[in-house]
Amino acid sequence: MVSLIPSPDTVLQMLKRTGAFREGHFVYPNGKHSPHYFQMPLAFRYYDTARVLAVALSRKFRVERDISSQLPKIAVISPSSGGIPVAFGVRDALSAEQIYWAEKEANGKRMFRQYVNQGEVNPCIIVDDIIRSGHAIEETAALVKELGANVIGCGAIVRFTSAPSEFEGGPIKSLVEFDAHMYDDGESCGDCKKDAAIEHVRF
Ligand SMILES: [Zn+2]
Repeated sequence: MVSLIPSPDTVLQMLKRTGAFREGHFVYPNGKHSPHYFQMPLAFRYYDTARVLAVALSRKFRVERDISSQLPKIAVISPSSGGIPVAFGVRDALSAEQIYWAEKEANGKRMFRQYVNQGEVNPCIIVDDIIRSGHAIEETAALVKELGANVIGCGAIVRFTSAPSEFEGGPIKSLVEFDAHMYDDGESCGDCKKDAAIEHVRF
């Protein structure tokens, strides 16, 4: 029996076991080097793992009075496709009424689907699989506000400690706070000094 909120170590082991958390020598599209890489959908391809992670994250929201008192009239919103399974899992655990997800258009602008109208979106919590910089959350919150809704919480399975820990006065919820080591280039990268083979990764 897994406890309802597994420890950060347990979560990290689950991510490792499913291939979502990888260790090696990675080069990101922006040229940065890192010994870690997260490909979170690999954890969410297993239904049981997805469920344990989403239920755990939902517990962190449920203890917030501002959230629990407004259920079920809440929307769970994902900033991108990676957060969709998290949003569905958290919605399920909270019995929240609505789900939305944003997508990046060809022009790079994050948007909801057409015909989501002003006044239709419940007070919302924004959830993602991973928060690397916090920009996705900020952009999504701006979209939500344009539609006249309030953001009453946000969180992710993993939050990099370099990202903000709070959003609009409330703590960002996460199951793992990860101190990601990023090197601006090969010069400063420890693995490059050791001539370790490079893997190029996509976000
Ligand atoms: Zn390197």
